Amino acid sequence: MATASPPFEVLISEVGPRDGLQSVKNRMSTTDKCAWIDALAASGLREIEVGSFVSPKLLPQMADTAAVVAHALRHKGVTVMALVPNLHGAKAAIEAGVHKITMPISASPAHSLANVRKTPEEMIDEVKNIIALRNEMAPRVHVEAGISTAFGCTIQGVVPEDGVIALAAACARAGVDEVGLSDTTGMANPAQVRRLFRRLIAELGGKAGAAHMHNTRGLGLANCLAAHDVGTRTFDASLAGLGGCPYAPGASGNVVTEDLVFMFEAMGIRTGVDVQALIAAREALARGLPGEALYGMTPLAGLPKGFGQDSYGPEHGMTRAGAF
Ligand code: ZN
Repeated sequence: MATASPPFEVLISEVGPRDGLQSVKNRMSTTDKCAWIDALAASGLREIEVGSFVSPKLLPQMADTAAVVAHALRHKGVTVMALVPNLHGAKAAIEAGVHKITMPISASPAHSLANVRKTPEEMIDEVKNIIALRNEMAPRVHVEAGISTAFGCTIQGVVPEDGVIALAAACARAGVDEVGLSDTTGMANPAQVRRLFRRLIAELGGKAGAAHMHNTRGLGLANCLAAHDVGTRTFDASLAGLGGCPYAPGASGNVVTEDLVFMFEAMGIRTGVDVQALIAAREALARGLPGEALYGMTPLAGLPKGFGQDSYGPEHGMTRAGAF
């Protein structure tokens, strides 16, 4: 049948320029950030979190986010996204012209107080204020809530699943367009991921959002696959796993975009992203942050023989069972 099919089945949301750069000591210049974003966009990525609107005193490496947003907006078809911790940041992000705002809301009260000096309930009030501002200033800007420490907290330990789902539902009621779950601390396992995303989708339907997984204990890809298996279709990842993990030397921070795209493409699940171009984008990253550790297995091993050819895919014997 010759029906036109969409160019992708999962959305890979690149968070390196925000999540990655925010976690490394060295600063990348605005010019280098823009060159890196150009290379990311050239690989076919359709959503890029380009920075955060936070106090430059707290995070001087994010002080140029408005300029970076202005540059990224040149890439037609790329959703330009920024993180905001509060109403002030949301206003700055909207003024800069972002398409999408993401706001972290911690499911762990201990983490929330340590991070933003607010309880999760107080953060919901801030979400309501942001939605009101969005509706007034820029109704087309998409607002995402990311439930951080959804799978465990380094301060309080276990985070009750009922509380995570209740907080996600409260965000949806407050008016956000989607709610994702973040393994901020790298504590998630695939069984837990399956359980929580299944509940999230049952509770929020079309507002259930991205899986933001870390690779602290090597389970990043397994956790993404678990989320995919229960219906998640948006995945956050960071080129070269930029950021590392302060608790686990040698482990990347976020899931490595190159490995995640390789996994889906090898399974015949289209991402719309060219793995080779993605690997090439590492050069722009390395140029902007000399000496920084770059992670990822696929860039080291290279692509397997025959990858990307017609015979490589589920219809031709490369079934999921065969591939794993
Ligand atoms: Zn992260």
